[in-house]
Amino acid sequence: MTKSQTPPANRRAIISPSSEKTISHVQDAGQEEVHLAVSSAKKAFPLWALKSPAERASLLLNWASLIEKNLPRLALLESQNTGKPLKLSQDGDLPFAIDNLRFFASAARVLEAPASSEYSTGYLSFLKRDPIGPVALITPWNYPLMMAVWKMAPALAAGNSCVIKPSELTPLTTLEIAKLALKAGFPEGVINVVLGGEETGKLLTSHPEIKMISFTGDTATGRKIMSQASHTVKRLHLELGGKAPFIVFDDADLSAAVLGAVVGSFVNAGQDCTAATRLYIQKKVFDRFTAHFITETKKIKLGLFDDPATDMGPLISEDQRARVEGFLGRAEGIEILCGGHCPKNLKKGFFFEPTVVVKAGQNSELVQKEIFGPVVCLLPFKDEADAVQLANDVSYGLAASVWTKDAHKALRVSSALRFGTVWINDHLPLTSETPHGGFNQSGFGKDLSRHALEEYTALKHVMADLSGEARKPWHYTVFGKK
Ligand code: NAD
Repeated sequence: MTKSQTPPANRRAIISPSSEKTISHVQDAGQEEVHLAVSSAKKAFPLWALKSPAERASLLLNWASLIEKNLPRLALLESQNTGKPLKLSQDGDLPFAIDNLRFFASAARVLEAPASSEYSTGYLSFLKRDPIGPVALITPWNYPLMMAVWKMAPALAAGNSCVIKPSELTPLTTLEIAKLALKAGFPEGVINVVLGGEETGKLLTSHPEIKMISFTGDTATGRKIMSQASHTVKRLHLELGGKAPFIVFDDADLSAAVLGAVVGSFVNAGQDCTAATRLYIQKKVFDRFTAHFITETKKIKLGLFDDPATDMGPLISEDQRARVEGFLGRAEGIEILCGGHCPKNLKKGFFFEPTVVVKAGQNSELVQKEIFGPVVCLLPFKDEADAVQLANDVSYGLAASVWTKDAHKALRVSSALRFGTVWINDHLPLTSETPHGGFNQSGFGKDLSRHALEEYTALKHVMADLSGEARKPWHYTVFGKK
């Protein structure tokens, strides 16, 4: 290779997981680029923080409209980069992201703190929610555009500038929507994007001028980020892994539960932090549920993202597929009722069959650890107490569901489950108005809803003297009467 042909350092190929072909090249950010992005966010912050909520809301609404106008192009790019069916990007991720932007545009204008009051005689106290400063936003590869919006919308609505780092595997739509943000009228420096993987992430999260880190990703990465953030005591918002239980009682509508489980387990090829991964089925209906579930699972059509018949795409990478195979290879005493292999008819792409496992032990890796692929374990339970105990018996706590026609039982179980979201007779749906976030090692902090907006603010108490006198009564208490 001649000197002129040498690729620039840190150049990264972006691969389509459906075709294994390179679809783009991007440049990883090093120390200099990260510093430049953070400095730009720092410079933009004071002016952005001073903008009125109405001004910020107006730009968020412009941005939402531009994304909506570009929806077909962005959905296609998202599916090319992730391999997920176009119908999922087009009818699911993109419309939801646009709705999130519109929600946060409205929420920015009604951010509230408790009413001001005279808690101490002669003083007026009021509370303010101030933006925090330049925030680092770090996102994963499973829903790249939606995760970028979940982070940017509340951060910006609350008056923060940001530096976002998408996953090194799926940066393309984040770059595109950042360009649309400039078109929408966001001032220069308010939104900055840096590309790269762990090294870039480390540079960003340890930068002293970053005041908060909002991260979505693996629990193990979350632990590293906590440690990286500790040197400069940064505020943290961590949305980490999950291992959702799906509890089916013998009085449930079994057909609804089976269909709910098929979608809940295999949506986005199981690469969903709320995916139903542990199906606890009451003993009396275990065999019936299992037979029906296998029949429906076998109907899932794997294929290319642009084939309208495709239900499930590939995994994101060769590494991710090897990780899933590794879990199955190490498991002892299990029986695989369907799947378990790479499909024979798809020669290219990181595809893996929807896989249903029985006889996995409650303490096994397969039941305890997040696999993040299309593998689901079916486990029998005896009674209500048994179901709750087994469901809660993991280190995660993101999402769970309970299926029964008995309303009292549904409410009792929902209250006993230690998870951030509990669905009753459904699994997966979220709304812009309702919080999403974990308990336990699924992290802390909420995405979506007004609670997310509050996450990106710091509560300030302003206490004003009403007397106008130099010496206050409490001065005498402290120093004695002179
Ligand atoms: P990951 O933790 O490997 O990577 C996530 C992001 O962190 C990427 O941008 C990556 O480059 C960056 N990163 C890696 N190491 C870093 C470090 N030391 N410092 C700073 N940044 C670093 O996760 P992933 O494999 O991209 O995504 C899958 C994970 O995301 C799963 O565990 C899934 O459950 C989780 N997830 C959680 C939610 C939620 O809402 N709780 C939503 C989606 C995905």
